[in-house]
Amino acid sequence: MTAQHGAEATDLLAWYDRHARDLPWRVPPRSNARPDPYRIWLSEVMLQQTTVAAVKAYFLRFTDLWPEVADLAAAQDDRVMAEWAGLGYYARARNLLKCARVVTQDHGGAFPQSEAALLTLPGIGPYTAAAISAIAFDQRAVVMDGNVERVMARLFDVHAPLPAAKPVLKARAEDLTPQHRPGDYAQAVMDLGATVCTPRSPKCGICPWQENCRAFAQGLTDVLPRRTSKSERPVRRATAYWMVRKDGAVLLRRRPESGLLGGMMEVPSGPWEEIGEFRDTPPVTADWVDFPGLVEHGFTHLRLELKLKAARVDGRVKADGVWIAVADFDNHALPTLTRKVVRHVLAHLGRGIKL
Ligand code: SF4
Repeated sequence: MTAQHGAEATDLLAWYDRHARDLPWRVPPRSNARPDPYRIWLSEVMLQQTTVAAVKAYFLRFTDLWPEVADLAAAQDDRVMAEWAGLGYYARARNLLKCARVVTQDHGGAFPQSEAALLTLPGIGPYTAAAISAIAFDQRAVVMDGNVERVMARLFDVHAPLPAAKPVLKARAEDLTPQHRPGDYAQAVMDLGATVCTPRSPKCGICPWQENCRAFAQGLTDVLPRRTSKSERPVRRATAYWMVRKDGAVLLRRRPESGLLGGMMEVPSGPWEEIGEFRDTPPVTADWVDFPGLVEHGFTHLRLELKLKAARVDGRVKADGVWIAVADFDNHALPTLTRKVVRHVLAHLGRGIKL
């Protein structure tokens, strides 16, 4: 770290001491208390793909019901899933329980401190491992989320587009991370991105880094960070199969735990492949009807195009999944892609396509 970077870290920590967000899992800066690793882990898992505002009430209810990791490990699966309802992405809840049990049984109820050891636990990826290591244990771990990437791209005037620019932005963030108070620093830079260096109209006038910010000096805050345009992302294609039973129930299945939308419910689809044509490999033999149009969905690094087919099938057919009435779909945590597929099918069934 250069002297310049040391001064930037000091400025940011001084700003954090005055403006840290008040969050139920957080220990205020300069309070001499260490955060509870269980509470930091729980909040970070809940915050994956969910906003701070939505997570607060769930966090308070969970810590009220299960104040320690051993309490959560001993909880009934169904009870935890029921309390999780509404937060979505149920794979997270299942991994939450698995992780609580591994920590209780294999680690004596104490979360490990290093990123490497945390990464071996269920449901903990690189971001969450770095966040727990830094925030709960004050380790010098580099926590990269969308907020931090945006701040680094602007501060250092990085024009390479995301997501390809991620390693460059991480290296910049690493240069800035101090030895002193790295946990508070990690939270400070995330707070700066969430409250000051916002995606639109950043509040540069009150930013502790304004003096050294290259994007601010050049009037480029509105164009950074750059992103690879949607049309440049690789396209994967697949066919999805809407199977409806006589009683109106539709077959949904859970995607494999690893990979895109891992563990989430989908209308069964073939493998998502980078191919020019749509492969048609129906899971059962039936009178399949083609739907016009495509369902498109953007992920950070690729675009997915789904072609849809539908058929009435005998409920006794052999196919993986669960039969769910369309009216009950809202009781299941369906990801956005599945909701798009459902809307597309229902819109066309209402416009004359008959099964
Ligand atoms: Fe972001 Fe503006 Fe601060 Fe630069 S000066 S880091 S663009 S808020």
